[in-house]
Amino acid sequence: MPPTVRTVISPGRYVQGKGAIHQLGGFVKQLGSTPLLVADDMVWGFVGHDVETSLKEADLPLHREKFNGIPTAKEVDRLVDVIKKTKADIAIAVGGGSTIDAVKAAGYLAGIRWANCPTVASTDAPCSALSVIYTETGEFEEYRFFPRNPDLVLVDSQIVANAPVALLIAGVGDALATWLEARATSRSNSKTMAGGLPTVTGTALAKLSWEVLWENALPAIDAVKDHQVIPAVEKVIEANTLLSGLGFESGGLAAAHAIHNGLTAVPQTHGLAHGQKVNIGSVTQLVLEGAPTSDIRDFIEFTTRVGLPNTLTEVGLRADDHDSLKKVADAATVAGETIHSMPFEVNSEDVASALATIERYAVNVREQAHLPAPVPYLAHH
Ligand SMILES: [Zn+2]
Repeated sequence: MPPTVRTVISPGRYVQGKGAIHQLGGFVKQLGSTPLLVADDMVWGFVGHDVETSLKEADLPLHREKFNGIPTAKEVDRLVDVIKKTKADIAIAVGGGSTIDAVKAAGYLAGIRWANCPTVASTDAPCSALSVIYTETGEFEEYRFFPRNPDLVLVDSQIVANAPVALLIAGVGDALATWLEARATSRSNSKTMAGGLPTVTGTALAKLSWEVLWENALPAIDAVKDHQVIPAVEKVIEANTLLSGLGFESGGLAAAHAIHNGLTAVPQTHGLAHGQKVNIGSVTQLVLEGAPTSDIRDFIEFTTRVGLPNTLTEVGLRADDHDSLKKVADAATVAGETIHSMPFEVNSEDVASALATIERYAVNVREQAHLPAPVPYLAHH
């Protein structure tokens, strides 16, 4: 695309609400006649019955394939084979961001349509036209871009509220970064993940996602602890899934996600959720930007209340572990990373310095605000 073109992309249809799962069959029927559902055993255990009933009501056949856990290139190729063998004409991911990333990539390679039925609101993967592919050990490998977004994204709010609250919290972390990164992308007038320059639409949706979360995240998290769906929960699910999805893709990614990708390069952070690592990226991006102290302080206080990590301790790192911080910073600044969409040049040393400083700063802010001290994270191997 020429460098002066602006663009917005989005899924064909977004559906959200309590009991929405019962309408899955009806919406799928508009798209294909031979669906392949991909879900891991745990997810299938609690939604399989409703999915099956809904497809049956729409006179659609049911074929479920087990998802193996990590969206690796190998897992994607395996799903392509299953699609071909079952002659499916639409692939439907039922589950979290990993299942969704694998199904989008497989649906694209197999040349069929794809839809997502997220059972958690933990990432902004469901709506986008790209997948993140990881290695077998969970390290970031590559972004894969597709010529179109999912035809359908259907979220049942009650299913999301039934899931552990930690997943919704991680989704808030992923979605809060959206505005910080879209704002940086719009300031630098860089290309977005949609392949053109940012539109006012994409940037505004990213900002709306931020506003909705500051207003609603805390009551929504409390409600989901009791598995209740209240209006604040609906708004947070929409912010995490749709607004953040459109906002990151058509508004642009910058430092926060590049630092997330860098964090996956060190084993200490393995096992943490995407949104938890992204939040470390957000705090670090604010420091890199030289954001107003009050902004950084507010962000640390708010994300502590939400339950997100904002110190190195909470992601298994230490400010004096220069080797690990350098490894993270090097990976975050490789050529092609979205950190180069920041409105100023960023190199590895800048990132390592910013990362090293968030520990002391966040610990102090939390102490002054009478918020809990960070609890060390230990990766399990
Ligand atoms: Zn993300």
